[in-house]
Amino acid sequence: MRRIGRNSYAEIYFRGCNPSMIQTADGFVMIDSPQQPMDALRWREQMEEKAPIRYLINTEPHGDHIAGNAYFPKVQVVGHIKLQECFDRYIAAGGTVEEKREKMKVQDPDSVWALDHPDYPISNPPKLTFEDKLQLRVGHHTIEILHHRGHTDPQTTIYVPEEGVVFTGDNIFHRCRTWLQECDPWAWLESLKAIEALDIETIIPGHGEPCGKAYIKEQAQIVENWLGMVDRLVERGVTPDEALKEKIDATKYDPYPLGQNLHEHDVRLTGLTVRNLHKRIMDKKQAAAS
Ligand SMILES: [Zn+2]
Repeated sequence: MRRIGRNSYAEIYFRGCNPSMIQTADGFVMIDSPQQPMDALRWREQMEEKAPIRYLINTEPHGDHIAGNAYFPKVQVVGHIKLQECFDRYIAAGGTVEEKREKMKVQDPDSVWALDHPDYPISNPPKLTFEDKLQLRVGHHTIEILHHRGHTDPQTTIYVPEEGVVFTGDNIFHRCRTWLQECDPWAWLESLKAIEALDIETIIPGHGEPCGKAYIKEQAQIVENWLGMVDRLVERGVTPDEALKEKIDATKYDPYPLGQNLHEHDVRLTGLTVRNLHKRIMDKKQAAAS
């Protein structure tokens, strides 16, 4: 676990996202939950030994940020209203408990027993929701929860002014491959500007090491590189199927490697990115024409 502010910590090396916590005078506030059951249970034990966990705030609906919620059944979960609406759909997309158990036997055998622990619900969606923003006051800390669409539609940023830190979820991938499989690229670029305007010293990205504001430009450039590439396909009338017949070298648009041992997803991810951006550009053109 890494100290990233006076009273805040992030775990950078778990399999999954960078789950984080702020230790306030009135207990812990968590940002996202550890993906692997054993990591989630260890985290919970570490915190509960010191103080109660007041809130668990999710930044997005992907499994690497929400699957571990199951192991915090008594904690108030906070999330965007659209995250609440799609939560169970994304949990279901992660596979059945049977499928998870088979995967876990190979990937993380220590976690197998935790999959069918009767105390843990499979799905633990947000109960406290918001639309534009929500401010919580916990102990002496202000927790500003902001809707920053981009990587996903309910994408959420958590800004803690007293700590000088912002938790961006996957609107920032620091020096590891950016996932654009369902993003709104234009909203994403706007959200990066909004993050840049915050008074912060440290950014905790969804994945990768903590970074500073200087990296935001690079992140925006990666989104723009992909957008430019698909824009050119649209101009030339090339469909995603035609473009994807030949292998696309993702490193031409994003210099960073796929982290988290996810290399096997390289080609699939590029396909999803091209299809998503192509559809969004076409939809935009159509909306402009009508
Ligand atoms: Zn993620």
